[in-house]
Amino acid sequence: MNYTARQIAEITHSTFTGDGDLLVKNIAYDSRIIYSAVHTAFIALRTTKNDGEKYISAAIEKGIKVIISEHETEHPKDVTFILTPDTTAFLQQLAAYHVRRFPDLQTIGITGSNGKTIVKEWLYQTVSDDFVTVKSPKSFNSQIGLPVSLLGIAQHHQLGIFEAGISRPGEMEQLENIFHPKIGVLTHIGTAHLANFKDENQLIDEKLKLFRHSKVIIYNGDNEYVDKKIKTLYSDRKLISFGLKENNNVCITSNWQNRKEEILVRWFDEYFSFPAQQRDQATLANALCVIAVLKELGFENQQIISKINSLKAVEMRLESVEGIQNNLIINDSYNLDMDSLRIAYQFVLEYQKEHKVLILTDFVESVHTAEFYPEVAALTNEQHFDEVFLIGKEITDYQHLFTGNVHIFRTTEQLLDSNILKHIHRALILLKGARKFETDRIKTALELRKNETTLEVNLNAILHNINFHKSLLKPETKMMAMVKANSYGLGSYEISEFLQHHHIDYLGVAFADEGAELRKKGITTPIIVMNPEQHSYDSVIEYNLEPEIYSLRVLNLFYDAVKKSGYDRPFPIHIKLETGMHRLGFKTWELDSLAETLKDKNLKVQSIFSHLSTADVAEEREYALHQLRVFEENSSYLIRQLGYTPIRHILNSSGITKFTDYQYDMVRIGIGMLGESPFPEIQQQLRHCVSFKTVISQISEVAAGESVGYGRHFKTTKMTKIATVPVGYADGIHRIAGNGAANIGIGGVLVPVVGNICMDMMMVNIDAIPDAREGDPVIIFGDKPSLAEFADYCKTIPYEVLTSISKRVKRIYIKD
Ligand SMILES: *Cc1c(COP(=O)(O)O)cnc(C)c1O
Repeated sequence: MNYTARQIAEITHSTFTGDGDLLVKNIAYDSRIIYSAVHTAFIALRTTKNDGEKYISAAIEKGIKVIISEHETEHPKDVTFILTPDTTAFLQQLAAYHVRRFPDLQTIGITGSNGKTIVKEWLYQTVSDDFVTVKSPKSFNSQIGLPVSLLGIAQHHQLGIFEAGISRPGEMEQLENIFHPKIGVLTHIGTAHLANFKDENQLIDEKLKLFRHSKVIIYNGDNEYVDKKIKTLYSDRKLISFGLKENNNVCITSNWQNRKEEILVRWFDEYFSFPAQQRDQATLANALCVIAVLKELGFENQQIISKINSLKAVEMRLESVEGIQNNLIINDSYNLDMDSLRIAYQFVLEYQKEHKVLILTDFVESVHTAEFYPEVAALTNEQHFDEVFLIGKEITDYQHLFTGNVHIFRTTEQLLDSNILKHIHRALILLKGARKFETDRIKTALELRKNETTLEVNLNAILHNINFHKSLLKPETKMMAMVKANSYGLGSYEISEFLQHHHIDYLGVAFADEGAELRKKGITTPIIVMNPEQHSYDSVIEYNLEPEIYSLRVLNLFYDAVKKSGYDRPFPIHIKLETGMHRLGFKTWELDSLAETLKDKNLKVQSIFSHLSTADVAEEREYALHQLRVFEENSSYLIRQLGYTPIRHILNSSGITKFTDYQYDMVRIGIGMLGESPFPEIQQQLRHCVSFKTVISQISEVAAGESVGYGRHFKTTKMTKIATVPVGYADGIHRIAGNGAANIGIGGVLVPVVGNICMDMMMVNIDAIPDAREGDPVIIFGDKPSLAEFADYCKTIPYEVLTSISKRVKRIYIKD
């Protein structure tokens, strides 16, 4: 887009104060990830979760000159405000206007429960050589994401591919009002995101509204209801169904499960075949969808086959891995275009590393004009990288436009051979390369140690889980995240840093050391220490931690330490009440002496809290209610004695979901944010965030009558294929998982552990997977088996499985 503030105000019937001639080309709605302030307006969105007006000053600090907001807040003179009664509606109005200016643009609108983003990215990969294409970045598909994406349409675009996602009834209508795709695409419908809908059919009805004005509708016809509904609603359109079932217009007629057979596709009455590496149902259905769209766009079969063949896996994520010499590598080499570059720059902003390095290659995957590289350079210069490595024949021609310390190389090989990267230390290294340049090799060279066993933590899943729990609560209820025990084994700094970025109100650790460690690494969010030991009081005070006080003895000892330290303001403490768990806390009859002892002390009771012992046990609901009654009485009593009102909290994750009425002022989330719940209806709404992965070290054919492992506990009765996996009890796999107790996942199939678990290895029977190969990925737990299933195998709970995983297992953090 390219409008002045005045034009924007006119288009959206809003008012403005300040300079109306300021030009706006981008709109940002998250002040933390403003990667470029030039011609960018910040919109202060009000959502149920947050009020964007809180972040206006942060945006102005980053150099933003135009603010779109519902109220004018205090601001410097040179800032222009556009004022609107409803920021979300504003954004949609502006986008609707903008889209209407390009009536000739061919548009594809994609919706569905699964596969939207993959189909969009694949379409983009297959058509962008032939059409100048604009698309939504990553999964920008919401009420806010779609309008922002649409604003990216410009005159020279020939094709626009946009995703539309909804989470509530009524939303698709809103989106369709702004965007009527000429070609409508419906991918797979599943139970994902059913949360706010009556049932699947209601969700489908809602999604189909996107196609009201579509001329062509391409849809997954495997779902009978979808097929029927589309045929009734839209009988006057061109309909093309695809799917694995043979009644679809586009389907597979060969046995796709047999890896030796080519995949034969039937397109109405025509047949053609293509080889496919990955043959799971979802991938094939998505490929059929792409084929249908390409056919509709007029491509020849031969072109389609070669395009499908060159599709790359869409790794929808930026991975960050620890590098040698204290570097942090952010690797994003799945595709390289302007959008993904912007997203990568936003991502870099989330890290506070002083020294920043960029490795960037030619943009081979997108068609571009003469202004393209200068634009890349300008955007890059705004990020202030200390060093920039450019690779390729094209981009190096523009090296003079890049500021900072610029190095150029023709090929990835040359860069690696130069050894120059060895000198980088303590830096964040952003690796952004087109596939052709195989920049993964640079990542491999820079990676700390090549370790095939990893514990992968998906931070976006954690955020999803937090937001799910928040959605059950009142907007003003605070949330403490429990990051004790190294964040349940996942890495307390990384998780805390991420949560701090997402405005968590409190962090909870078990011991002062854990809190001190977080402070040393730059975490400034308030931290409560659940178990402050006497020897650590100095550290509590020095690092500005807030202790749980659970007895008079601790209260007096801690206060002595505060006095000795010379701390002169009221020191924040948290009072733990015993209500039925019988672990730590003040009992009912101790409250008077507690209030008495607190009276003349320079301490501030920040909160009063307790803990439920049976929030996760359905049969013990009565006991939890009893605890809640005791808490209500005792905390109220203590508040009256104190003469002021600290905040109160008692609910853990299960408590949030089952005793929501007792949320008081804050809740404490733990296992729930990691995506585990004992209640199936809650579990369904959460996302798994951890995967424990490794690869097969060796495959052996063991003859009948032989034995496997220490003690010969497993004996073969026939020729048996055994895979050895490099994970054992020293990695935290309980020995009880051996001898058939546990299954692990290889190629989506569960296979049993055989024999005893060794210190560093274990063996599995892979007779069920004839085509498994050495080096194939293995899931100890993650998707299948899930963490909860794995915990069951080991006769324990997810908490213990996670906290047992030993330090030597490398943790990797990913964000979508
Ligand atoms: C660990 C802990 C929690 C979190 O419990 P989950 O069951 O993981 O949600 C909450 N409160 C206290 C006091 C804790 O120690």
